[in-house]
Amino acid sequence: MFFADYHMHTSFSSDSDAPMESMILAAISLGLKQIALTDHVDFDYPDVAFPFLIDYDEYLETFSYYQNKYKDQIELLLGVEIGFQPHLKHEIADLVNKYPFDFIIGSTHVVDRADLYNGDFFKGKTQKNAYLRYFEDVLHSIRTFDEFNVYGHLDYIIRYGDYTNKVLSYKDYQNIIDEILKALIHKGKGLEVNTSGHRYGLGQFHPQKAILETYHGLGGEIITIGSDAHRPQDICACFHEAYKMLKDMGFKYVTIFKDQKPEFISIESYTKN
Ligand SMILES: [Zn+2]
Ligand SMILES: [Zn+2]
Repeated sequence: MFFADYHMHTSFSSDSDAPMESMILAAISLGLKQIALTDHVDFDYPDVAFPFLIDYDEYLETFSYYQNKYKDQIELLLGVEIGFQPHLKHEIADLVNKYPFDFIIGSTHVVDRADLYNGDFFKGKTQKNAYLRYFEDVLHSIRTFDEFNVYGHLDYIIRYGDYTNKVLSYKDYQNIIDEILKALIHKGKGLEVNTSGHRYGLGQFHPQKAILETYHGLGGEIITIGSDAHRPQDICACFHEAYKMLKDMGFKYVTIFKDQKPEFISIESYTKN
C-alpha cells in the first residue's frame, strides 16, 4: 500500500472524463492516505478544442463537498498543474494568490505558443533542436516563475514528435538539463517523478533515471511521485517500481505538501501499510 499519489486529473480537466468522486473512491480502495487532485490550468492554450481552464468557484464547491464527505477515509489536497508560458506571469500569479492551493505542479505543455501534444511544436525542427528548445523553455520558466512546488514530467517531450527513435540520451542534453536541476535546487523547488512514461510504453519514468540520479547527486531532495492518472484505474500505476528505483538511487525521503509547505516522509513509511 502507498501513502499518496501527487498527480491526477478529473473531468474538470479538458482531457479527462473521470468524475472527481470516481478518482477519490479508487484512491480510497487502494488504501491511500492522501491524494493531490492536480487538474489542468493552461492559460492561452493554443488548441481551442481543449480549454484547460477551471471555474474555481464550482471546483471548490465540489472539492470541499468530497473533502468533507470522505474526510475519515482520505485526505484530499487542493492541487493544480499549471502550464507555464513566459507571457503568463500575471495570470498565473493571480490564480495562485486567489486560491488556497496545497500543491502546485509547474509544467511545460506549450513552447513558443505551439502545442507539443498535437505536434505543432515539432514542425520544421530536427529532434535535437526540438528537445533543446523545450529544455531551454523549461529552464526559463523555472527561473521566471515562483508559483510552483515541483516541476512536472521533465523530459516527457519524448512522448510526442514524429521521430522513430524516442530515446533521449541524457549526455546529448546534459548541460541544459543540469542547469535545470541546479535552478530547481537553488530555488528550493522539487522534481516530480511522473510514472506515466511506462503507461505510454516508453520504458521509463519522467524524468529518466540518469536525470534523477544527477538530481540526487547535486543535492536535490524534494521529490514527489505522481501517476498523472486521467482515469481511476491508473492511480498509483507503476509506483512499486518508482519507489524501488528511488531507494536504489539513495533517496531516503519522498515529499508531501500541505499549504505548499513540504514535509519529508521516509520512503519506507510511504510504502508501508
Ligand atoms: Zn502535464
Ligand atoms: Zn497531468
